[in-house]
Amino acid sequence: MFDTLPTHYQDAFDWDWEQWHPYFETLNNTVVTEDNVVRWLQDCDTLKRLVYEVRTRLYVATNVDTTDDDADARLKNFMRKVNPHVQQQFSMLDKKLVASGAAPDAIKVPLRNIEASLKIFTDDNLALQTRLSELQTAYNKLSGARTVEWEGEDVPIAQLRKVLQSPDRDLRKKAFFTMNERLRQDREAVNTIWEEMVDLRQQLATNAGLDNYRQYAWLNKNRHDYSPEEALEFTEAVAEVAVPADTRRMEKIRTALAYDTFYAWDTNANPDGAEPLKAYDEIEELIETTASIFQQIDPDLGAQFGIMQAEGLLDLDNRKGKAPGGYMTYFAQAERPFIFMNATGLAGDITVLLHEGGHAFHGFATQHVEFTAQRDVPSEFAEVAAMAMELLAFPYLTKDKGGFFDDADAARYKIDHLNRIIRLLPSIAMIVEFQHWVYTHLDAARNTENCDNKWFAIHQKYRPHIDITGYEDDIAGSWRQVIHLFSYPFYYIEYGLAQLGAIQVWANAKENQATALAAYREALALGGTVTLPELYAAAGAKLAFDAETMGAAIALVEVSLKEFETSQ
Ligand SMILES: [Zn+2]
Repeated sequence: MFDTLPTHYQDAFDWDWEQWHPYFETLNNTVVTEDNVVRWLQDCDTLKRLVYEVRTRLYVATNVDTTDDDADARLKNFMRKVNPHVQQQFSMLDKKLVASGAAPDAIKVPLRNIEASLKIFTDDNLALQTRLSELQTAYNKLSGARTVEWEGEDVPIAQLRKVLQSPDRDLRKKAFFTMNERLRQDREAVNTIWEEMVDLRQQLATNAGLDNYRQYAWLNKNRHDYSPEEALEFTEAVAEVAVPADTRRMEKIRTALAYDTFYAWDTNANPDGAEPLKAYDEIEELIETTASIFQQIDPDLGAQFGIMQAEGLLDLDNRKGKAPGGYMTYFAQAERPFIFMNATGLAGDITVLLHEGGHAFHGFATQHVEFTAQRDVPSEFAEVAAMAMELLAFPYLTKDKGGFFDDADAARYKIDHLNRIIRLLPSIAMIVEFQHWVYTHLDAARNTENCDNKWFAIHQKYRPHIDITGYEDDIAGSWRQVIHLFSYPFYYIEYGLAQLGAIQVWANAKENQATALAAYREALALGGTVTLPELYAAAGAKLAFDAETMGAAIALVEVSLKEFETSQ
């Protein structure tokens, strides 16, 4: 029966649920045993690949042209009339597979995700989740509606973030306090959302038979290979080695500016008033130059990027009518990655394309897996694939290597990038530590005054170089602007862990690029078939939470910074 499914997604573009339904029914009516499980899974996958391909193509079509009304109508129709059934049916099939006990060894590891989602699923939680997403919408609405008066005009508060980069210190200070005055007006409204949110999250956990929401989030995020305690060990390592490095970085800027002290409105300053770094003029230049970089990193990866070029799988230029943002997605039936972004000629575009390129190579590496479940890569490792590419490109950025920049600009690009790594780690740790406290001290955290005190203490721990005298209350209340806490609870540590992995891959490549790349590609090809520590190990790295590993990574970053600074 499954050989009658369309082999081209366009033939299923306008299918309604009645056309999909018989295939699901056949799968659901099969008694799964060890004898037929492989065949049954293959049929599931044939169906899954087509459904995913249709859904992804429909979504991409609305992104590449937001004025395409046909594409918009098709996507809406699919999301309303087909997708809810499809989701529900696939989860029934998952349940069936787990209950059969016949799952082949090849998907034992990814099967842990299904088992976890079954463990936390209860009907009672559906209504709670709906309410939570309403609260998230309310929170976003509050954020989006904020305007301030600036230079005689009513402007969205987000525009003042640009002013915080101004070389004019007084202007930055004024922007900082203008923003905070406006933010204070929303405190009560945010508090109300928060109080209901944390209670709802606790209730989700209770309904699933768990003690607290942290346990729930761990299962929900498929964190089978590391514990909450290890996550906290990671934050302590940040405090021990990344915070001092961040302080050294800030001290350098402070000294250069001849400031006595460093305030919150100084941290994003662009002191020399330099314009953002330009990288290229035409989009073809971005593509060709990046292609040559990938080619030099690894010829096979270069060839894969060549396939993307040849087959129209890169939509990179910023143009009218295109949706914002950047991402890599995968066409499951065609077995091809696709990169979408909005490039405008700035150096940051290179980072985005290298990053999404790393994700795309992951797609190629897992192209021919036997079962689609084997392609479920945990984001703690998927981001290693992407972030490592950003660093592996370093030796090929200069014009003499076919790259984008003269020596001085290449140095500036690399310095920016490494500084951002050092800055990111404390931000991640702050958010991680705060949430661990919230969901294991709910009685205290329900009271937003306690949250202010906790956030203040965390700020002092991770941002000791910022003088907060006289505006302590603005700092204490600033957790209310952290969207992760409201919309993406417990999400973020993935990037910290992966950055540490990426730096280790980069360190290996500095020793021997061919060996490092071989390990990297071998790890990518494993998909999600082995555990997280095994994926890192295969890539020649260690999934690490300890200060020693982080210290070595930070030391490499700092040594490299010095090297690039002297070549500037
Ligand atoms: Zn990514």
